[in-house]
Amino acid sequence: RLHYTEDEAIPGIIKRANDYYSERQLLLSRDKNPMKADLKFRVRQLQKLYYSIKDNQELIIDALMRDFHRARQETLSLELIPLLNDILLMVKKLPQWMTPKKVRDHTPMFAFGSIQVEKIARGTALVIAPSNFPLLLALTPVGNAIAGGNAVLLKPSELTENVAQIMEKIIRDADLAPGLVQVVQGGIPQTTKLIEDPRLDVIFYTGSPKVGSIIASAAAKNLVPCVLELGGKSPVFVTENLGRNKLRKALKRIFFGAFANSGQLCVRPDYVLVHESVYQEFISQARTVLNELFPQLDHETEFTHMISRAAFDKTLSKLEQTKGTPVVPRSTVVDQDNKDAECLFFPPTLVEDVQWGDALMTEENFAPVLPILKYEDLDTAIDNVLMYHDTPLAKYIFSESTQDVNHILARVRAGDCCVNETVIHVGIQQAPFGGIGQSGYGNYGGCYGFNAFTHERTVFKQPFWMDFMTSMRYLPYSKRKTQL
Ligand code: NAD
Repeated sequence: RLHYTEDEAIPGIIKRANDYYSERQLLLSRDKNPMKADLKFRVRQLQKLYYSIKDNQELIIDALMRDFHRARQETLSLELIPLLNDILLMVKKLPQWMTPKKVRDHTPMFAFGSIQVEKIARGTALVIAPSNFPLLLALTPVGNAIAGGNAVLLKPSELTENVAQIMEKIIRDADLAPGLVQVVQGGIPQTTKLIEDPRLDVIFYTGSPKVGSIIASAAAKNLVPCVLELGGKSPVFVTENLGRNKLRKALKRIFFGAFANSGQLCVRPDYVLVHESVYQEFISQARTVLNELFPQLDHETEFTHMISRAAFDKTLSKLEQTKGTPVVPRSTVVDQDNKDAECLFFPPTLVEDVQWGDALMTEENFAPVLPILKYEDLDTAIDNVLMYHDTPLAKYIFSESTQDVNHILARVRAGDCCVNETVIHVGIQQAPFGGIGQSGYGNYGGCYGFNAFTHERTVFKQPFWMDFMTSMRYLPYSKRKTQL
C-alpha cells in the first residue's frame, strides 16, 4: 500500500525546497554566465526526468491497470506519449522561453536606457494532481516547474495509489539534483497542511471546482498565486446545419471524447444538444455507432473502470433518477453475479430524451454516461447553457454553417472550443489550455506552462548622462515645470 507522508514531515519538506531554491540562486549568482549555466542545468534535469519515465513505462502501464483497469492503449496515447512529448518540447524550446525579451519605449524617460523582460523562477512550486490522468497531470506541470527554475513539491492523487508509488520511483530513479523535486503522498490532511504553508510561491492545482475553491482560499491567506485547472459541464451542439452524411463521423468523435477513460476527462462532452430536425436520425445512428464501437464489453474487456466506489455509486444513483431513456451497447452482459459493479466497471450509456433539470444535468457527470437533449431553437438552447452551466472548460460545435459556429462562439464562453471535433485540442502542444470562470483560471501547454511557473520581471537600466532630459521630475516644481 501507498506510504503516506507523515504530517509532521511536511514543514521540513517545504523548508528543504525553500533552501534548495535559495542555495541554487546563490550558486548561479556566482557564475560568470548564470543564464547559460541555468539553462544547461534545467535541460539536464528535464532529460533525466524524461529517461526515467521511459525506463518505467511498463510499470506505469501496469500500475494504471491495477489502479482503475486503465486500458493500455489509453495510457499510451492519452497519457504517456503526450507526457514524453511535453517534456521534449520543454527541452527544445527552453532556450527560447528563457531568453529575456527586449522592449523599446520612445518616451524621453526610457528612450536611452535598456528595458528587458525576464522570466524568473517563482521559488517553491506545489503541484497537486488529480486521479483521472494521474501521471500526465502530475509530471507535465512538474516538468514546467523545473523548466521555470523552481523547486517542486508534488502531491499525487491518493485515489490512484499504484501510479503514485511509481511516480515516487520515477523521481528517485531520475537522480535529479537533491531537493529539486520531492513527493508528498497523502490525502486531505496532507494536502491541507501543504496549502496552508506560507512558504509556497505558487500552487498548480488540477481537480474539481469544489476543492479548487478550498485551495484558492488557503492560498489567498498567504497571497500565494494559483493556477486552477478545474472541470465543468462541457456541452456539444449539433445544429440543424450538419449534413446528414456527416452524422456518423460526428458521433464517433463525440463518443471518443465522452467514453475514453470511462468518461473521466475534464474536457469530456458532458451532454449533447441536438436540433429537432436532426434528432431522430442522430439517435438512430448513435445506437448503431455505440454497438460498433463496443462489440464486446464487460469488466474484463479493455474499457477503463471508474476511479472510486463513490463515483460509481453517484453515477448509478443519477441514472436511476433520470427521466430519460438509457441505452447501453448490445454486447453489455447482464451483471448477474454483480462482478462488473464490484470492479467499478460502468458501461458506456447514452441517455435519450433528457430534459434540463434532470439529475444528469445538475453537475459534471465525469462518468461514461451521455445525456442527449433535443432543442427547437438555437438561442433558447444557448440561453439554457448560460443559465445552468455558464463557463465550461470546453464546448463543442458540430455544424457546417459558419453562421451557427460564430453565433455559438460569440454567445457561449468556455475555456476552449472545438468545431467538428472533441477533446483532442488538449494535445495541441503550443496552444494554451485552461478554464474560465467556474472551470478555473490560468493555463498551461507549451510556453504557457513555463509562464505559469515564472514571474515576468522588468529590468530597466538607465545611463547617468541623460538626467538633463528628465529634470522635470525633480523638486522644486517651478511654474515652467507645471505648465501644460
Ligand atoms: P479532486 O478535486 O477530488 O482531487 C484532486 C486533488 O485534490 C487530489 O490530489 C486530492 O488529494 C486533493 N483533495 C481532495 N479533496 C481535498 C480537500 N478537501 N482539501 C485539499 N485537497 C483535497 O479531483 P479528482 O476527483 O481527482 O479529479 C476529478 C476532477 O478534476 C474533475 O472535476 C475534473 O473535471 C477535474 N480535472 C480537471 C482537469 C483540467 O485540466 N482542467 C484535468 C483533470 C481533471
